[in-house]
Amino acid sequence: MTAFSLEPSQLARCAELRTLAAERLRPLAEKGEPGRVNRALVAELGALGLLSRLFTSGALDLCLMRESLAQACTEAETALALQGLGAHPVHAHGTPGQRERWLPRVSDGTAVAAFALSEPGAGSDAAALSLGAERDGPDGWRLTGEKCWISNAPDADLYTVFARTTPGAGARGVTAFLVPADRPGLTGSRLDMIAPHALGTLRFDGVPVTAADVLGEPDAGFRVAMDTLNLFRPSVGAFAVGMAQAALDATVAHTATRDAFGGRLRDLQAVAHQVAEMSVRTEAARLMVYAAATAYDEGADDVPRRSAMAKLLATETAQFVVDTAVQLHGARALCRGHLLEHLYREVRAPRIYEGASEVQRGIIAKELYKTLEAR
Ligand SMILES: Cc1cc2nc3c(=O)[nH]c(=O)nc-3n(C[C@H](O)[C@H](O)[C@H](O)COP(=O)(O)OP(=O)(O)OC[C@H]3O[C@@H](n4cnc5c(N)ncnc54)[C@H](O)[C@@H]3O)c2cc1C
Repeated sequence: MTAFSLEPSQLARCAELRTLAAERLRPLAEKGEPGRVNRALVAELGALGLLSRLFTSGALDLCLMRESLAQACTEAETALALQGLGAHPVHAHGTPGQRERWLPRVSDGTAVAAFALSEPGAGSDAAALSLGAERDGPDGWRLTGEKCWISNAPDADLYTVFARTTPGAGARGVTAFLVPADRPGLTGSRLDMIAPHALGTLRFDGVPVTAADVLGEPDAGFRVAMDTLNLFRPSVGAFAVGMAQAALDATVAHTATRDAFGGRLRDLQAVAHQVAEMSVRTEAARLMVYAAATAYDEGADDVPRRSAMAKLLATETAQFVVDTAVQLHGARALCRGHLLEHLYREVRAPRIYEGASEVQRGIIAKELYKTLEAR
């Protein structure tokens, strides 16, 4: 890949994914119940071989999958991303036994995964998490506390749970556990959010875990969380770019045909210039996402800065583009079931999760000053 264009094979693959999303995944998504995991959709993602690619692809391939699916079916895009987010810690840090038990089922879509980091008292400041893991015999712990805003909860089959094994040690006292949903003492409830996918809280009431459930090493779980988020951060940007492109395509089509003032909306310069602006910003965000993902795949040392920039620019851009698309469509965009009404609800959360925009700016500034100090 050059800095400016994808290979023809990558472009062909993206086109194929958009077609699959429109023809095979969209009809299943439409049958799903809002706020519930759509198991038929997850199974189809598995049958199409897309879930197994989560564990064999690099960051750029992950971005291309997320962008392409998001253009035609955000529900499929989110279901794919959440399988990756929940199960990547098992893939990258799990024991052979954990991997053998769970990864084939996550890949064929028969087991649904979730990533449980956030708590009522620890969101952006994830290292402040307090869900307690208290020693229970030489080989075990009991988990007590709460997780909230967990995508796929409480419907998921396995949770990557980050718990405090050493009180007062901040990020260095956190352990990642693989917790199957049927463990005694684990319950959950649904949250009713404007984001269309399943979200819930999890309650841990002395849930037993052993050394066999640890992902990575005890007290080294924050690294597991950050490794996962570093891989997924540019791909949140790719999701946003896919949504922006869908909103732009709809706006070009609409403004080209809508009658207004004796011509078409596109004939009004104020409208045409807004469409041009949407296009420029979407393309800039796309290039930054590809550059960040490529840097990740090449093991470059400026990945934190690039990933933060890509996520920040792409999610803020998508918000602008979707909002402008709503404006240029007028009232029809606000009807329930309209593509833009759906995107308007989808586009808001990525500016908050996996590091809010302000947190990304903090990372970018920190990296810039670090470079200065290293001179
Ligand atoms: C749709 C959705 C899905 C989610 N899915 C998951 C999931 O699957 N797993 C999971 O663990 N969590 C998930 N989350 C939770 C998400 O990660 C948190 O919402 C996020 O980390 C922010 O935490 P908070 O909401 O507690 O906000 P706070 O941490 O309370 O922050 C609120 C606001 O304060 C500002 N702020 C915070 N920190 C800084 C800073 N350092 N500098 C400047 N300003 C700052 C920002 O404007 C921020 O939005 C999800 C959230 C949403 C909305």
